Amino acid sequence: MKKTNTYEPGIFSRFSGCLAGGSIGDALGAPVEFMNLNEILNHFGPGGISDYFPAYGKKGAVTDDTQMTLFTAEGLILSKIRAGENINPSQIPVFVYQAYLRWLSTQQSSPEHLISRHGTCTMIDGQLIMHKELYSRRAPGNSCLSALMSGKMGTTSDPVNNSKGCGGIMRIAPAGLFLKQEDVFDTACEIAAITHGHPTGFLASGCLAYIISQIINSRDILDAVKSAVTIVKSKKDHKECLDAINKALDTWKHEPVSFQTVEKLGKGWIAEEALCISLYCVLAGENDFEKSIILAVNHSGDSDSTGAITGNILGAMQGIEAIPEKYLKNLELKDIIMEISQDLFEQRHI
Ligand SMILES: [Mg+2]
Repeated sequence: MKKTNTYEPGIFSRFSGCLAGGSIGDALGAPVEFMNLNEILNHFGPGGISDYFPAYGKKGAVTDDTQMTLFTAEGLILSKIRAGENINPSQIPVFVYQAYLRWLSTQQSSPEHLISRHGTCTMIDGQLIMHKELYSRRAPGNSCLSALMSGKMGTTSDPVNNSKGCGGIMRIAPAGLFLKQEDVFDTACEIAAITHGHPTGFLASGCLAYIISQIINSRDILDAVKSAVTIVKSKKDHKECLDAINKALDTWKHEPVSFQTVEKLGKGWIAEEALCISLYCVLAGENDFEKSIILAVNHSGDSDSTGAITGNILGAMQGIEAIPEKYLKNLELKDIIMEISQDLFEQRHI
């Protein structure tokens, strides 16, 4: 990194920064998710979109990326509360799966319907389903919907489909915050594999969660990426994921920082491209939250998801204090995001 960040954020600041940063990237990218770069620049000017613009009827509206990230966090928190701190890590994804089924219910029905249908079973666990503002469809991904509607919980060894869409990686950040470092990579892969069965779909998620777990422990981003590379190389079918990480690093080292450079990295609809674009934008922003997040959403692809992943990494690196107030102030679900960050922090495995 060319510019060093002398401020060292505390752990809780990194937790809330990671979740809020992701939601901010999601909200900034939401209005332009389905626009190409030319359309974005024609509409917002040569600097692209740089502040909230109405999506889903309001400024600062988040999408499925943030909704599912919150449910990932809730599943993790409840795994600890219900099964205790000695829970076998292999059991944790089951709690996250149940949380995703609750998210699915928010896309299809209402809290009253859920309670009358499921009574007191685990389907009505947690607090998120009590928030009516989460009962809103924000362009949910087809792989997530169809996998969860199938009734089968996907795993890495028994895949539910062959999808490598970015729906696994865009929601995985809480795993990097919550789990022990030795459990993060594999457990995050299993959580992504609930809905995304292609190895690249879940390995990219394992990499992101691992990188986040490293940087909240004050590890430099480049060191964290290097360690993630060592782990992913030991996994089967890792080539696409490894190539994507190397592409991000090479592009950062050799190309000028511009929207056009991001265009060359792909569109981010698939997991490895989402990881590549996000890593590049984090590095190219040189510790400037605004610069990185603007770079991450102004392209022709899945702007809200690359914005979300970039924001997750930046927030974990820089802490919530580094996030401009103009983004935090008008962020939808801000109170819920802060509450979940607190619970995730308090219940985390140390
Ligand atoms: Mg989205």
